[in-house]
Amino acid sequence: MSNSLVTMSYIAATILFILSLSGLSHQETSRRGNYYGMLGMAIAIIATAMSSSVTAYGVLVVALLIGGSVGAKAAAKVEMTQMPELVAIMHSLVGMAAVLVGYANFIDDSQTLTGVEKTIHEVEIYIGVLIGAVTFSGSVIAFGKLSGKIDGKPLLLPARHWLNLALLVVTVLLGKWFLAQAEDGGGTFPLLLMTLLAFAFGVHMVMAIGGADMPVVVSMLNSYSGWAAAATGFMLSNDLLIVTGALVGSSGAILSYIMCRAMNRNFISVIAGGFGTGSAGAAAVVEGEVTPVSAEETAQILLAAKSIMIIPGYGMAVAQAQHTVYEITKLLREKGKTVRFGIHPVAGRMPGHMNVLLAEAKVPYDIVFEMEEINEDFPHVDVSMVIGANDIVNPSALTDPNSPIAGMPVLECWKGETTIAMKRSMASGYAGVGNPLFVMENTRMLFGDANETLQAVLGALRS
Ligand code: NDP
Repeated sequence: MSNSLVTMSYIAATILFILSLSGLSHQETSRRGNYYGMLGMAIAIIATAMSSSVTAYGVLVVALLIGGSVGAKAAAKVEMTQMPELVAIMHSLVGMAAVLVGYANFIDDSQTLTGVEKTIHEVEIYIGVLIGAVTFSGSVIAFGKLSGKIDGKPLLLPARHWLNLALLVVTVLLGKWFLAQAEDGGGTFPLLLMTLLAFAFGVHMVMAIGGADMPVVVSMLNSYSGWAAAATGFMLSNDLLIVTGALVGSSGAILSYIMCRAMNRNFISVIAGGFGTGSAGAAAVVEGEVTPVSAEETAQILLAAKSIMIIPGYGMAVAQAQHTVYEITKLLREKGKTVRFGIHPVAGRMPGHMNVLLAEAKVPYDIVFEMEEINEDFPHVDVSMVIGANDIVNPSALTDPNSPIAGMPVLECWKGETTIAMKRSMASGYAGVGNPLFVMENTRMLFGDANETLQAVLGALRS
């Protein structure tokens, strides 16, 4: 394929990626956004494979077959609840790719660059390996935390901020050393040492972040993986990879900012890890009596209500209850009830988790509201159904300054007439804190797997 054809294909792919991102920002257009992305990626892969820079077709085909089949198998096997872990582990692969491309470039002796161009190339290698290594190890730890293999509590080493600062200074000094040695064809030792330190930094950074701040980390690592891809693009002189990496990097950064704002957190504090989590005392212990209800009683309460708010959380995803939720919604709406959904920005385990599930179950978009759109309405709500949610409806976020989620806005369902909270036990949510909502006077607990209890409620509503 001629160079100009490759360039044109890259421009087409870039436009498709931009259309894809804009499509993904609205539920109505997200499916189209996905198609644009798939088409853009197909064009990008074909154009790169046909370009003059590729000669080892055998290796390429084998790599495509291995990578493609592992990806297809993982995508087919993954449960919706495991999606955040899959995304995290995918980010780690982008990071590792940047590290490997960096080392491949470093040992490649066919390079003929000299003078400033050579130095720029070496800087690209150093920065590419640095970002890639931090992304890799940080994403592996995020994978462990999201899948529950690593404890969600923040690891707060003494003098951790000084440790981070020292790592930063040493990395800069090693960079200087690397550039000086690379002039004469050396530099392996400082590059290796920096890689190890970057791995350690990635581990420390994510280990220091508390459970409730994980959403920011997920979006931040998404951003890092974009910058790692852009760095790879610089090393390989591939414009499309640079543009795509920058798109992912900047959209991830914007998402991190949105998540921080939604959680009322300061971005720098979250990244620095654990700032504010070491507050004065322990979180308050929740005491009081719970009032359980049966599915039949729940159906009666719903039939007596006019305005109903459904608040889904991670437990709805675990129970795969979204289709039953939709059936109940349809039935209640047919009976003339106003049914709305209140979505917290960090509900579930990944940004937009609940919206994806509700869209899958065909819940109409116009009854799905963001937290800030409906939080003021709770005093006029007759019944709130909290389905497998916990942290996002925890009043102690607003009242207990020692709580790990202190300051995070939550859905204030307790201001309505009655709240029905559905979960299997009194276990805490992701942040590991007790929830006083469950012992409030106007709260009723419907215990059991959300899908099973909702099926029973649906049955009772129908009869
Ligand atoms: P939580 O994790 O706080 O609570 C979920 C609740 O669901 C649990 O208390 C659990 O209680 C219940 N549950 C689990 N399985 C079932 C089931 N089969 N049927 C019924 N209930 C079930 O989830 P929230 O959505 O309220 O909050 C999200 C949390 O995750 C926040 O702390 C957020 O910071 C964090 N997070 C969010 C990310 C994001 O991007 N959205 C990413 C990473 C973390 P029980 O065991 O008793 O049933």
